[in-house]
Amino acid sequence: MLLSHLLAAEGVESVIVEARSQDYVLARIRAGILEHSSVELLCSVGLGERIGRDGLEHRGIYLQSPGERHHIDFVDLVGRSVWVYGQTEVQKDLVSARTAAGQQILYGANDVSLHDVASDKPSVRFTDSDGSRQHLDADVVVGCDGSFGPSRDAIPDTVKRVWERVYPYSWLGVLAAVAPSTDELIYAWHPDGFAMHSMRSMQTSRLYLQVPNGTDVNQWSHQRIWAALAKRLGHTPGGWELTPGPITEASVLPMRSYVQAPMRYGRLFLAGDAAHIVPPTGAKGLNLAIADVALLAPALVALLRNNDPGPADDYSDVALRRVWRCTHFSWWMTSMLHVNGDPFDAQLQQAQLRWICTSRAAAAGLAENYAGLPLGQ
Ligand SMILES: Cc1cc2nc3c(=O)[nH]c(=O)nc-3n(C[C@H](O)[C@H](O)[C@H](O)COP(=O)(O)OP(=O)(O)OC[C@H]3O[C@@H](n4cnc5c(N)ncnc54)[C@H](O)[C@@H]3O)c2cc1C
Repeated sequence: MLLSHLLAAEGVESVIVEARSQDYVLARIRAGILEHSSVELLCSVGLGERIGRDGLEHRGIYLQSPGERHHIDFVDLVGRSVWVYGQTEVQKDLVSARTAAGQQILYGANDVSLHDVASDKPSVRFTDSDGSRQHLDADVVVGCDGSFGPSRDAIPDTVKRVWERVYPYSWLGVLAAVAPSTDELIYAWHPDGFAMHSMRSMQTSRLYLQVPNGTDVNQWSHQRIWAALAKRLGHTPGGWELTPGPITEASVLPMRSYVQAPMRYGRLFLAGDAAHIVPPTGAKGLNLAIADVALLAPALVALLRNNDPGPADDYSDVALRRVWRCTHFSWWMTSMLHVNGDPFDAQLQQAQLRWICTSRAAAAGLAENYAGLPLGQ
């Protein structure tokens, strides 16, 4: 939807084919942190009003290991902040803006398939929400259909290459109707497993617990969740306490890294989760999807309006540089903070945390990656 917004600003028309209903898309709870350059981009294209009003600007994060909590100040270290503003809110802003502009958004599409993407006349076929079969001819098709959509599989196996890492743990994430017990996010290493205190607003907390893969969320009562969070997050000096509250949503999120290349095949371009997945520890998934389309929009404008194929030809290589940087950062944060039962690894993790908390150079590396590189890098 952001890509359509950017293209429309340059006079390039697009149609969005979405498998889910509008209600579903507007209610989905996912990412919550926007990088500095994501916010700059959204504001520059008229989508910043509610971010400025309802978003929470954070200078940094807290890193915690038992008995110690340190603030990593991104603004002081690298001159950039991040914003707490839910993906659901970004989605709402986009739906309002695109609906007001008359954007064609075809919700509830089934059996979506891509055809002739290697030719100059690619097409998309699907069954619309009324049950009629539809055929859409296009100049280009952009696969922004996440990790389960058909786009990534439309690139032949003989052309594509895939890298994948599945982690031996998941996150149990909860949304709670209670004011956050912290002013900025807490990332906590604990012998029982990683815990994180995030938020969506001054009234809503978002909290995560490391759990084994295959965990059934129904095995975790709300009381058990709060007790585990209090233990893992509360192990700190100064009498800090976690305030519990009503849990309104709980789910288990498996963690994996995945990269597929190239991100372009003929007239098919991939963006976001369709081409790459990161574990959420570095808060990169949504931001990387935004960075892809920020690069792709001008490339498509050059291709379709100015008959200049250069930026589109370069898209995959340029995008993959950032994808691999963020893939590394997300893996690095994940590996540093999640216990895996190996006592040697636990010592290495704590040594690394101590280094980041005591060395300005090490902290700056984390800050630069977390707050995000400028777009185009
Ligand atoms: C529970 C959860 C928590 C997350 N937390 C974070 C976080 O804290 N920080 C972070 O940065 N990232 C997080 N992410 C990841 C982040 O949400 C994604 O990286 C981001 O949404 C990617 O954007 P996208 O547009 O590529 O894909 P999506 O936002 O997934 O959009 C793809 C769209 O394609 C649609 N679609 C799927 N299949 C089809 C089809 N066959 N035909 C048509 N349409 C189709 C989907 O309905 C969806 O609307 C989280 C993800 C989940 C699931």
